[in-house]
Amino acid sequence: MLELRPSCENCDKLLPNNSSEAMICTFECTFCVDCVNNVLQNVCPNCGGGFEKRPSRPVNCLTTNCIENYPAKKEKKLRPVNMEKYKIVQDTFKGIDPHKR
Ligand SMILES: [Zn+2]
Ligand SMILES: [Zn+2]
Repeated sequence: MLELRPSCENCDKLLPNNSSEAMICTFECTFCVDCVNNVLQNVCPNCGGGFEKRPSRPVNCLTTNCIENYPAKKEKKLRPVNMEKYKIVQDTFKGIDPHKR
């Protein structure tokens, strides 16, 4: 199950469950869409993978699988990207389609 991390790991922008700006990689590294497009160039600093829009968890509990029963994570995982260290990762992956990395 997705952790639904509470904020962007780079700039700390809040990304609640209902946000349309939350992006995740396959390891659930979570960034805002601005950081993904303008800072990371769709390369995850931790794994090199691409990002997809994070799905929201329903607020309606009809199925019982909802945000009330499975709340978003509360602890932030803030770890601003060290662009110097990240450069080799970005340069290696950015020119390759995310599905072929
Ligand atoms: Zn951000
Ligand atoms: Zn990642």
